[in-house]
Amino acid sequence: MYEFKFDPVEMHPCTAQLRTEVREFLRVELAQMLPQDRAKTWFGFSADFSRKFGARGWIGMTWPKKYGGQERSALERYVIVEELLAAGAPVAAHWMADRQTGELLLRYGSDNAKNRFLPAIARGELYFCVGLSEPVAGSDLAAIRTSAVRVSGGWQVNGSKIWTSGAPHSHMMSTLLRTSGSISSRHAGLSQLIIDLSSPGVTVRPITDQTGDRHFAEVFFTDVFVPDDMLLGNEGEGWQQVNAELSLERSGPERYLSCYRLIEEFVRAAGPQASLPVVTLVGEIISEMWTLRQMSTSVTGQLSSGGTPALEAIIVKDLGSTFEQSLPPRIQAVLGAEMPPSQTVPLHAVLNYLLNASPSFSLRGGTREILRGMIARGLELR
Ligand SMILES: Cc1cc2nc3c(=O)[nH]c(=O)nc-3n(C[C@H](O)[C@H](O)[C@H](O)COP(=O)(O)OP(=O)(O)OC[C@H]3O[C@@H](n4cnc5c(N)ncnc54)[C@H](O)[C@@H]3O)c2cc1C
Repeated sequence: MYEFKFDPVEMHPCTAQLRTEVREFLRVELAQMLPQDRAKTWFGFSADFSRKFGARGWIGMTWPKKYGGQERSALERYVIVEELLAAGAPVAAHWMADRQTGELLLRYGSDNAKNRFLPAIARGELYFCVGLSEPVAGSDLAAIRTSAVRVSGGWQVNGSKIWTSGAPHSHMMSTLLRTSGSISSRHAGLSQLIIDLSSPGVTVRPITDQTGDRHFAEVFFTDVFVPDDMLLGNEGEGWQQVNAELSLERSGPERYLSCYRLIEEFVRAAGPQASLPVVTLVGEIISEMWTLRQMSTSVTGQLSSGGTPALEAIIVKDLGSTFEQSLPPRIQAVLGAEMPPSQTVPLHAVLNYLLNASPSFSLRGGTREILRGMIARGLELR
């Protein structure tokens, strides 16, 4: 069998050893995992995997040691995430908190929230989801209706969220809601609260997507009490906080590596004697992926040095999801003509899954139309 290995040029000598360590860990831990399960990448869930991964010090690895982190660099974290995605590791349990909620807690969390949540996240034992979208407020996020009113010692929350990834298995939700003003106040009066999903008054109703998975959910809040120290930052400043958080969400390698399993299975099935159309397509794919990697690492560097590359992150997300979405049909187009069916058994299972999953790539994290509107505004075209 032809062996194809993800082998990116090291960005810095310090990451070579780390890459070898994490790759060996993944080789052992994921030895029995099927290609079609690996194709789920950051939507695959395994509590056991996240706990073992946390025990190696690879969750929250850039955070301060006093909160369970390792004080390592953003570049080292990038290498870890690349390897996880390339291997198709089931990372959903710790994904949101490691990528964004941990940073949010470090910047805006109360002492109690930081001490209570960050070490447990880093151990791979506490899972967060992110509740922004609502049934009538997706693209128009400032129109959210879920609200929190002041009560003795905290807040009382009513409303609902939808499409919340990971809600069926998460313990906590970082939630954007209205704490003052009205819907017409738009961005003013929005705040972020951490809501314990085991609180009385919370109902989580999983939603089945078209692949058959139940990774997201609708979440209802009826008179849910949230203590004061679960407020993130200042009351009324949630909009600015969420926008900074979205840059962390939009620029990582998951925006161009979601179909990596398909590329690997395609090259493996093609073998060393691949036809010219297959070789040409692989060359195109790798060069596009390489360009996206350069852009994504550049945004990561800017974020880690305190910059606010919001527009740049949006461009990575838009180009990355366009690339990812193009892969299943491009590979499908050459399969029948260039490869006999006997060569393509695991490849077809992966392709079928990604043909169904990939339409969501340009919805999650903000739709293509909305992101392009933001790019146009950034370029002062509107
Ligand atoms: C797999 C997946 C995971 C998700 N995970 C989460 C999550 O964890 N947390 C969370 O809060 N949300 C999550 N979402 C929700 C996602 O953020 C929303 O689906 C997205 O923001 C679009 O909102 P909507 O579904 O309400 O669509 P709508 O806003 O109703 O949009 C419908 C269509 O109209 C277009 N449109 C809307 N307004 C405009 C406009 N002004 N100009 C041009 N076109 C427009 C949109 O681009 C889209 O094509 C997830 C979605 C998916 C698919």
